Amino acid sequence: MLSLTKKIMSVRVRFAPSPTGALHIGGLRTALYNYLFAKKNTGQFVLRIEDTDQNRKVDQAEAYIEDALKWSGLEPDESPTKPGRFGPYRQSERKHIYQKHIESLIEKGKAYYAFDTPEELSKIRADYERQKETFKYGAENRMNLKNALNLPRETTEKLLNEIPYVIRLKVDVGKSIKVKDGVRGYIEIQSDEIDDKILMKADGMPTYHFANVVDDHLMEITHVIRGEEWLPSLALHQLIYDAFEWDAPEFMHLPLILKPQGKGKLSKRDGEKLGFPVFPLAWEESEGFKERGFLPEALMNYLALLGWNPGTDKEIFEMNRLVEVFDTERIQKGGAKFDFEKAKWINHKFLGFTDQKTIFERFPEFMDCLPDSWPQKKRSAVYSLLRDRLFLLEELKSQSEVFLEDPVEYDSKVLNKIQKNDPKKIVAQFCKMVKEEIAVKDWKSKIQEWNENEKLPFGAIMQSLRLAIVGNLSGPDIFDVCEILGNQVTLRRLEKFYNHQN
Ligand code: GLU
Repeated sequence: MLSLTKKIMSVRVRFAPSPTGALHIGGLRTALYNYLFAKKNTGQFVLRIEDTDQNRKVDQAEAYIEDALKWSGLEPDESPTKPGRFGPYRQSERKHIYQKHIESLIEKGKAYYAFDTPEELSKIRADYERQKETFKYGAENRMNLKNALNLPRETTEKLLNEIPYVIRLKVDVGKSIKVKDGVRGYIEIQSDEIDDKILMKADGMPTYHFANVVDDHLMEITHVIRGEEWLPSLALHQLIYDAFEWDAPEFMHLPLILKPQGKGKLSKRDGEKLGFPVFPLAWEESEGFKERGFLPEALMNYLALLGWNPGTDKEIFEMNRLVEVFDTERIQKGGAKFDFEKAKWINHKFLGFTDQKTIFERFPEFMDCLPDSWPQKKRSAVYSLLRDRLFLLEELKSQSEVFLEDPVEYDSKVLNKIQKNDPKKIVAQFCKMVKEEIAVKDWKSKIQEWNENEKLPFGAIMQSLRLAIVGNLSGPDIFDVCEILGNQVTLRRLEKFYNHQN
């Protein structure tokens, strides 16, 4: 019967970050997988802010998270700024809800007040350590400690006198807890391994575990998709669901994102060291993927492949295709190595097929390097010439410099190499063609005609021209460059080179 009810419930997933700083790409990938799963199943994607730890809360973080999701195209169906019927969506505003629910657990005998002070507990912990043992607040010693199970009569008085307390989960002994993770399968844990975890802190705030379970239940979350670091909490969460006699949602724990080189989890420091962003948008001193010139849809494509694969060789997916092909069955267990070059390659592909008008409209901050004083035709021509060479939009600035500045020097290595072919004479010939107003498209055949007598290597001819126009051998097709520069600038650069060669 229960599974039948579950089947007809529509899919509801949530992304539940704690606002302790910027959203990093690990968190963003979690949000993406939740989003894809929700859309694929015509379900709802909820953003819940888990801000019960007021000490770790960072003021700008919540707004950052919402902005980052928006930029990424992962807009929640319900969130603190777009409340639905399951609000409030900030845990700090749900204290009354947790209070009511903890009381019901106490009544059921599943949770209890504990008055041990932190000092008392650390003393006990130290005593255990001295005997090379680990202290665990639980069945084997709770009847020796200061709590309502051990001291039922004193409890009412302590509560009346407002003696500080926490509320703990009463974990039964000798129970086997079987949980299922959609990525890894069944996991069995013995309840003896779990201590009587605190559910309510002395400041009246719930712990993560308690609030998370209560909210997932009340918000009718059907699937919990979150990072692997929460897998060790799964059995405890199951115990809390059991204590309430609630059905647990289905769980999927996503693999870690690993450093590009070496072992371990990707960190902000790796990004700083190796020069790649780890945040979607700028945060404090760090530039984000946005500021480096990523198309959000390219970043989503890359992140989708970081821990999941479509089962085919295809690697480029626009968002609507991702929604169609995304299948949680293909989420991998093992960690996924972050690969910035691959992310850039995907961005390059997206730049290749996204039409220019869209790029100019959506990313004006990167297009400013093509001066407004240029006619739009010229701005477009430069962009379309360079676009196949771009991996990040930020590269447009340096790549387009060739259209803004005449070369100040010429690559001496190349110059020495071609000196014997008389680059001055070659350039003079190009000057002549410009003055005769021969169209750039005819330059190649004209210069070949001229070269029938000269018999110079064609490579040296092209290198002379490129050196005169650009100053080095890099950059796009040189005839295209000359075409865009126009006769006047081309001639100026040719003459400058000519005069430079004496
Ligand atoms: N607040 C937790 C976090 O910051 C949420 C974990 C979960 O999704 O259950 O990641």
